[in-house]
Amino acid sequence: MEAPLSYERFEQRAVALESRVRAACERVGRKPESVKLMAVTKTHAAWAAEYAQRYGLACVGENRVQEAVSKKQERPQWHIHWELIGTLQTNKARLAVETFHRIQSVDRIKLVNALQRHCADIGRERLPILLQINAGNDPAKHGADPEEADALLQAALQADRLEVQGLMTIAPLSDDVEVARQTFRALRRIRDDMERRFGTPLPELSMGMTGDIEEAVEEGSTLVRVGTALFGSRD
Ligand SMILES: *Cc1c(COP(=O)(O)O)cnc(C)c1O
Repeated sequence: MEAPLSYERFEQRAVALESRVRAACERVGRKPESVKLMAVTKTHAAWAAEYAQRYGLACVGENRVQEAVSKKQERPQWHIHWELIGTLQTNKARLAVETFHRIQSVDRIKLVNALQRHCADIGRERLPILLQINAGNDPAKHGADPEEADALLQAALQADRLEVQGLMTIAPLSDDVEVARQTFRALRRIRDDMERRFGTPLPELSMGMTGDIEEAVEEGSTLVRVGTALFGSRD
């Protein structure tokens, strides 16, 4: 399929995005290298992931298991990491374990147990994961409630094939960017608090998308997940 966007145009957008991240880092005294950029390629065909790879990004994000499987099959060689950022149904957990480098959307104990079991079944020794927390108390309910976070982490730490690397959140839809900022601040607090109480490092904070990158970086994001600003709107 022909790409609707030239690589040169993509490159300009990626450079512009990196300077947005850098400026936000400077405002709060962070090192720009402390924030990674993930290209969210959902709904776009395989060209989008190829552009990301060619540009030198380390990972791409997909929100549907089957879509990622198809894109990976379409080309023989990928050296970019595929990550799942969308809700995972338990009946697709096995395919997800076979497909993704990391799963960011681990939001319930039942899923932790399913991932652990499938890793054991297929002989995968280590699956990096993030715990998705509804830090903004979004009524749309993406992620575990903050009150469930402890039990979720406890279960994930007991699953020896899973490596909990940190937390992920999606800010509630709002015209007010302060809603996003408060969500990101809450996720960071939850992280700091869990690190202290569990004595386990949770370095990755996956937060921020096209509309709230600055707020996320200022509040401590280590990974921004960006689709629209790189590839244009999804229709
Ligand atoms: C689609 C999506 C993104 C990217 O959103 P944009 O606004 O296009 O940058 C980031 N994270 C998740 C979980 C998504 O589903």
